[in-house]
Amino acid sequence: MSFTLAIVGRPNVGKSTLFNRLVGKRLALVDDQPGVTRDLREGAARLGDLRFTVIDTAGLEEATDDTLQGRMRKLTERAVDMADVCVFMIDARVGVTPVDEAVADILRKRGRNVIVAANKSEGRAADGGVIEAYSLGLGEPIRLSAEHGEGLNDLYAQLLPLS
Ligand code: GDP
Ligand code: MG
Repeated sequence: MSFTLAIVGRPNVGKSTLFNRLVGKRLALVDDQPGVTRDLREGAARLGDLRFTVIDTAGLEEATDDTLQGRMRKLTERAVDMADVCVFMIDARVGVTPVDEAVADILRKRGRNVIVAANKSEGRAADGGVIEAYSLGLGEPIRLSAEHGEGLNDLYAQLLPLS
């Protein structure tokens, strides 16, 4: 059975980097500059023998009348409602921020399967942020480095029972 995975989280945590890694083509723009990608992006993902649809929550930084929080909430809710499982990504080098807490609230209310991914976890600088990620109360975080392709085995292990 195939499933749909949504990658959610505040801007700049590495969502599009993971999306690109799973899809294997540069369908989603990755950029340090805000305002480059837009809305929701869908791709055909592979991870080991798993095949699934992945949705990248892009477009969070588009200039609109909405506040970033308002826009993020709407886009995140849309992505979550399309998904069977969500990867909720935080930046382990920064730790849990109030914006991350707002995303966690959406996930709790919508009651989907959630995998917490503490990204940018290569190296020791991330240890504190990974531990903080437990405080989100959404399960044991996986240590991920989307950029370096580390931790994908743990992502696979959490996805396997859902496939
Ligand atoms: P998004 O806004 O959540 O989609 O984040 P992006 O995928 O555009 O990444 C934002 C920045 O974080 C880019 O400069 C990426 O190269 C960088 N980044 C993504 N994943 C990692 C990672 O695992 N480690 C580190 N150090 N940087 C990363
Ligand atoms: Mg992005």
